[in-house]
Formats: sequence, C-alpha cells, structure tokens
Amino acid sequence: MRIDVVSIFPEYLAALDLSLIGKARQDGVLDVRVHDLRSFTTDRHRTVDDTPYGGGAGMVMKAEPWAQALESVLDGAPAAERRPTLIVPSPAGAVFDQAMAYELAELDHLVFACGRYEGIDERAIDWARGDFDVRPVSLGDYVLNGGEVAVLAMVEAVGRLIPGVVGNPESLVEESHSDGLLEYPVYTKPSSWRGRDIPEVLLSGNHAKIAEWRRLEQFHRTAERRPDLLAGVDTGALTKADLRA
Ligand code: SAM
Repeated sequence: MRIDVVSIFPEYLAALDLSLIGKARQDGVLDVRVHDLRSFTTDRHRTVDDTPYGGGAGMVMKAEPWAQALESVLDGAPAAERRPTLIVPSPAGAVFDQAMAYELAELDHLVFACGRYEGIDERAIDWARGDFDVRPVSLGDYVLNGGEVAVLAMVEAVGRLIPGVVGNPESLVEESHSDGLLEYPVYTKPSSWRGRDIPEVLLSGNHAKIAEWRRLEQFHRTAERRPDLLAGVDTGALTKADLRA
C-alpha cells in the first residue's frame, strides 16, 4: 500500500518509522511518504494560511498550496494507482472505526491531508474531488490542534490489517471490534500475582471451555463498558452459548 501524508509538521510523522509500521516500511510492505506543505508555497515566508472570509477567530489554510501538494502526489503515483483516496482528518468527518480501517486497508493508495488552524479552505477539498475519492474522517467527537495525531492513529489501525505487517495474523482475529464485541481480559505469567489469581479455566487446557469463557467475558465486558455496541452484533451469528451469556 502507498500512503502519502501532507502536513506543515512532517517531523510529527516520524513515529511512522517505529515499531511494526516502521518495519513494514523497511520491508517494503508499506510505502509511506511524508510531504511538507510549505514546500508547495511560492512566497518568501512560505505562507500556508490567511484570515477567514466572513471574519471570526483563527486562520484558514490556503487552497493553492494544498492543490500544488496534491498534484505533486498524483504526479508521483504509479499510473495504476490513479484516483487515490484522500482522507481529510476533521472533527466534522465520519467517525473512524474498525470497519472503516478494514475498508481502507483494501485500497492501494491513501493520501492524508493534515489540517491545522481552523482547517483547509473548502474549495481545495472540492477541487480535490476531481482526482481523489475524498473522505472527511474524524478520530472522535473532540477537537485536536491538527490532523497529524489522527493520521498516526489511522495509519496504525489500517496498516496493521495489511498482510505482512503484524507477524501473527491470528492476533487480529479475536481483537476488540473485530466481531463487534470488546476483547476478553488477558493474562500472562505468573498465574498468581500479588494475591490475584487468573481465572482457573485458563489453566484447564480445555480449549472448548476456554473459548466459551472468553466469549462470555466478551459479552460481559461489552455490556458493562459499551452497551451501545451490543445493538450492532449480528444475532444470526450467535451460538447457543452466546445466548446463554
Ligand atoms: N475549526 C474546525 C472545526 O471546528 O471543525 C477544527 C479545526 S482543528 C483546530 C485543526 C485541524 O485538526 C483540523 O483541520 C483537522 O485536521 C484536525 N482535527 C481536529 N480534531 C480532529 C478530529 N477529531 N479528528 C480528526 N482530525 C481532527
């Protein structure tokens, strides 16, 4: 997968050199390119923002540097990867979730436009619809200072779903949100720690019983912490044991 990120703080994206995403880049599984929006300005001060029409607080990112940056990304993209998806992080976007992560992981080319200040001149986003599938996406219902943190989160969530990024693909299967429920509690050695023992069933060696216990814990935890998720569980896929839970 090819990923381009445009930002006025390219250093912010240095974390993409670390851990599993960094290794995937080294291994050529992910081709991540970070671009400095200011390189696409033409004035001495490398200006990327200006005052908002209509008045009000803050500054707005100018359309032209964005158009130049996105054209440059398109020019550098292999012919087969024309019409990439442009993710515009925004608190006014559709909320990012695991289903969206799976959907984006199927694509060849993602481009992320990191806004700052009061956001990007809307005309740049409209203009980009000519060449990109544009998706405004929110990390959640709160406001960040810029899109970079959102991009780090999205690239990690999407990247780890791409084959070859996570060493053992099985670890993706039973995670929170993979089946609409939260994950069961997990434990490691020692079995007794500071007066706390792990649930006995985990020492039983009985895989069917362990699976049943885990599934029950998934339901209990989801009901307690995120009851809203239960409404989305596919009831047709529930087992008899699930229904007992
Ligand atoms: N004035 C904008 C509004 O109220 O919708 C908020 C601008 S915010 C201070 C600056 C930038 O941070 C946004 O353009 C976006 O790139 C990013 N951002 C802020 N909150 C975000 C969120 N919840 N999800 C994704 N990106 C966010």
